[in-house]
Amino acid sequence: MADYNVIVIGAGPAGYVAAIRCAQLGMKTACIDKWINSEGKSSLGGTCLNVGCIPSKALLDSSHHYYFMQKHAATHGITCKDLDIDVAAMQARKATVVKKLTQGIGALFKNNKVTSIEGTARLIGNQQIEVTAHDGSKQTLTTDNIIIATGSVPAKIPVAPTDDKLIVDSTGALAFDSVPQRLGVIGAGAIGLELGSVWSRLGSQVTILEALPDFLATADRKIATFAQRELKKQGLDIHLGASVTGTTVANNEVTVSYKDDKGEQQLLVDKLIVAVGRKPNTESLGAGELGIQINERGFIEVDEFRQTAVPGIYAVGDVIGGPMLAHKGSEEGVMVAERLAGHKSEMSYDTVPWVIYTWPEVAWVGKTEAELKGVAYKVGQFPFAASGRAQAHGDTSGMVRILADAETDRLLGVHIFGISASELISEAVVAMEFDGSAEDLARMIHAHPTLAEAVHEAALGVDGRMIHA
Ligand code: FAD
Ligand code: AMP
Repeated sequence: MADYNVIVIGAGPAGYVAAIRCAQLGMKTACIDKWINSEGKSSLGGTCLNVGCIPSKALLDSSHHYYFMQKHAATHGITCKDLDIDVAAMQARKATVVKKLTQGIGALFKNNKVTSIEGTARLIGNQQIEVTAHDGSKQTLTTDNIIIATGSVPAKIPVAPTDDKLIVDSTGALAFDSVPQRLGVIGAGAIGLELGSVWSRLGSQVTILEALPDFLATADRKIATFAQRELKKQGLDIHLGASVTGTTVANNEVTVSYKDDKGEQQLLVDKLIVAVGRKPNTESLGAGELGIQINERGFIEVDEFRQTAVPGIYAVGDVIGGPMLAHKGSEEGVMVAERLAGHKSEMSYDTVPWVIYTWPEVAWVGKTEAELKGVAYKVGQFPFAASGRAQAHGDTSGMVRILADAETDRLLGVHIFGISASELISEAVVAMEFDGSAEDLARMIHAHPTLAEAVHEAALGVDGRMIHA
């Protein structure tokens, strides 16, 4: 008999959720994770909890409070004479949030009887894993099934090698101990925009260089245009079509060379963040040797139920690509666990929500207009400027846009730029998951005054019957 029914490799949001669900369903489960935090201690939760979703939101929230006090509090009749930033305190608060949540995973493992194993896992057989502990000692474990959830690491580019001092990746950018005066960011994806926003709100002069000609190329075009304008107003200098070609470090400064439609350009900054995407993590895993297919971009190939080419070995989360988002990985983990227990679980990739936590936030689910080529659709659009709650809040930028099938009224896409877009999008996810129509949203009673009324109004707008705009 094998040591375990299931061994999960990786305790990020894909892996730890898979492990907990397996254990809940009666499988003897272990989860192996190698993460060592900046204090040299093992820490569960993967990228998301340690150096991703959670610490970035902690800093986004702190920096937003400062920005609000500086720029907007006075309009609410609140003034503060000695407003100041204590970066060390801000970072300490972030660390406390991270610690609480990462330790929480340990408690969840305990409560659900998941065996947590610290160390690096390597596949040495279809049902055999070698674990190297942090002290170098090795053990071999046997298991009926394996779930690979080894996640991803920041992608590197040869033209901007990180030195962890002046040129950093997202992890380094979450740990600055002071506010850089001039900050460069390569990449205007979610991570570049969020980290650029944090330091810009705290006073950095931020320049973002993005190789693509379009801002947020995968988002709704109108939303992207509004978001770009708003972020520019906040001080983010975003250069599109600007491809970085080299960097040099001298005198405690970084010179970034880039090429745009005007030719060769240079930018001088005190710190540079490289935020050019993430790379799947299969290093030293032994996956290829076992016959697991890895594609040219390094992602593990899986079938629709996340099984690799080797029966009994599954892969979930960032390591298989698709939307590299925590919630996508978690749901894949649940699906695999439940199918191992004989359930018929499936996952709906069409309703994975996307969020960019700028201020205000960008969130969407479903198709953009560009993706609806050849489909007849109607659009309902409602501006937050016409929302009573947004007015009361004092934050009226942005809009809700709803795309619905012209014939059936079925919801095809919902796109939001505005405060709490990350929360508002859930209503759209629910509606779309139930194959809802714009009429369904329009008929639902929304509490007043709420920001969600903007979603309601946009749904009414699909049929040209908005009340407040
Ligand atoms: P990971 O979280 O990367 O976890 C993988 C784990 O496996 C790690 O702990 C790693 O140490 C371990 N591991 C790897 N190889 C081995 C091995 N051989 N043996 C043992 N252990 C191993 N996503 C969102 O949805 N929302 C956000 O707001 C968001 N913000 C982000 C902000 C930043 C700055 C960054 C960098 C990312 C953000 N993401 C966000 C992306 C999100 O963090 C990832 O999509 C998510 O963490 C992927 O989960 P995962 O479980 O697949 O992998
Ligand atoms: P994401 O993958 O969404 O995190 O976004 C990363 C962004 O970095 C993408 O929009 C890329 O176009 C951009 N990018 C990658 N390499 C470069 C480069 N050399 N110069 C400028 N932008 C880049």
